[in-house]
Amino acid sequence: MNKNIAVIRGDGIGPEIVGEAIAVLDAVAEKFGHSFTYTEAPMGGNAIDACGMPLPDESLAKCLASDSVLLGAVGGPKWDSQPSHNRPERGLLQLRSGMELFTNVRPARMFDVLSAACPLRADIAAKGIDFVVVRELIGGVYFGEHRTETVDGRQKATDIMAYAEHEVRRVAHVAFQMAQKRRGRVTSVDKANVLDTSRLWRRVVSEVAAEYPDVELIHMYVDNAAMQMVRDPSQFDVVVTENLFGDILSDEASQITGSIGMIPSSSLGEGTRGLYEPIHGSAPDIAGQDKANPIGTILAAAMMLRYSFDMAAEADAVERAVGETLKAGYRCGDIMDEGGILVGCREMGAQIRRRI
Ligand code: NAD
Repeated sequence: MNKNIAVIRGDGIGPEIVGEAIAVLDAVAEKFGHSFTYTEAPMGGNAIDACGMPLPDESLAKCLASDSVLLGAVGGPKWDSQPSHNRPERGLLQLRSGMELFTNVRPARMFDVLSAACPLRADIAAKGIDFVVVRELIGGVYFGEHRTETVDGRQKATDIMAYAEHEVRRVAHVAFQMAQKRRGRVTSVDKANVLDTSRLWRRVVSEVAAEYPDVELIHMYVDNAAMQMVRDPSQFDVVVTENLFGDILSDEASQITGSIGMIPSSSLGEGTRGLYEPIHGSAPDIAGQDKANPIGTILAAAMMLRYSFDMAAEADAVERAVGETLKAGYRCGDIMDEGGILVGCREMGAQIRRRI
């Protein structure tokens, strides 16, 4: 197969980690007889420096013309004084809505060999952590009206949370279809005892569930879900929730698995094209020092193979190579443990490539 991948290297450690992910994709192409071409699309602080805006029209056009997009990370102290409409992270929001990516999928999976990095009690970690958080990405309170006004001499702020039926339905389908390929269980998280948006959410998710009789549906309040995630994460398979709850729960989910440098994420829309990236930021404190852990970005590339290109065997090969590299003892600084072999970003990438 021939695939055209738009590449946003971004800022800070972005170029280093994306370079390693591309080298892994090239190893996959060689082994499985595919051809991947890469189109550079500048975004973030480097794009502000080059042309005054975080997401140039040309970059969005390249992403829309691609089969999928691979992103490092954007931002850094150099651009912190930019006005909010022109910050590097704004480019990310523009890209998500420009590509109409309404779902974010973040796996929370703990590699057995890294269980020492899990902050949960050993008996809880021993039961394993392997679930995905499916988050609605372009609706809810983040995209509602925001207003600050003065009423009777006092400041008052309002943020409106709104959901339409179709916005819930489409993300619910993604969750149920994902559960069919996993362990067949969806936990839908809401606050239906308080919020109208949550009552709508619960009704629509239940309707969608009727189309997937092979998948079990559980409804859970968000406060309980936050607690259950640290009490017994092994109970979760696919967690589906709205934007704000998903933002918080997906961070909790990644923390319980260990290092931030290990976790990929994908954002999907109606078709097969997606945006794939690690969950961490541009880590300016270690940029340019060959210290960044490239595994989150390499696993993001594996997700691209699986979800956008329907290349399951190829994705398995990458995930297996990462597991074997960790088992052989190789560690970047963020996941270093006693007896580990400390390597930099480039060497970690090379070790993974060798095992494809
Ligand atoms: P960060 O995720 O960049 O870094 C937090 C800590 O984790 C740092 O100590 C960093 O060195 C470490 N870390 C992160 N990724 C690592 C990796 N792959 N390997 C080893 N260590 C790693 O978060 P931050 O410091 O809050 O933000 C830095 C910049 O990134 C900010 O400008 C922020 O706005 C931006 N940001 C961008 C994205 C994105 O592009 N999607 C996401 C979050 C933050």
